[in-house]
Amino acid sequence: MIPLTLLPGRTDATRLSRDRLDLLTALIDTPAFDPLYRDTLIRIPPQHPVYGWRCSIDGCGRSRQMGHVICESHHRLWTQAQASGMARADFLRTAKPLPAARGTDHGPCRICPERPATTAALRLCSQHHARWQHHARTVRAEAEEEALQQWLRTQVPLAGYGICQAVCPLLAASSLGLCRQHESRL
Ligand SMILES: [Zn+2]
Ligand SMILES: [Zn+2]
Ligand SMILES: [Zn+2]
Repeated sequence: MIPLTLLPGRTDATRLSRDRLDLLTALIDTPAFDPLYRDTLIRIPPQHPVYGWRCSIDGCGRSRQMGHVICESHHRLWTQAQASGMARADFLRTAKPLPAARGTDHGPCRICPERPATTAALRLCSQHHARWQHHARTVRAEAEEEALQQWLRTQVPLAGYGICQAVCPLLAASSLGLCRQHESRL
């Protein structure tokens, strides 16, 4: 955590504003203050009980539609399913997950802590994703999960590219030194 400081160049950096800053810092440090909000950059977990933002369909990488617990695409599918008489519980259980929209941060590769993952479902960096896709061609679809677990044990982490150069907290995705989102903007 970066300690709170007063903005530079403010003419009202008086004793009063210093006292307020001390008070705020003390309040943030109390055990009753949720540690989630202590960091300078606040990351809300995808399925946070109050501020959860990811679609509730298992494995779906998309964000929730405002006021709903599922994404816009799943909501559309649900409206169709509901019209044909399907029960909501059955829909939620059987709906297929969708890939995240562009610009979503999936966190690090599950093998390389310094490289960003390309998809929410596999959580592999582009290099490991390509290697797995190549390997998966030799695997029967029903044995895929077990084969993935075995294959993961044979892989070693690759060196990362540091943090995105575009004054952004995400991991850089290539030797360009930019995260995937800034790379696509470039
Ligand atoms: Zn969804
Ligand atoms: Zn990787
Ligand atoms: Zn970036």
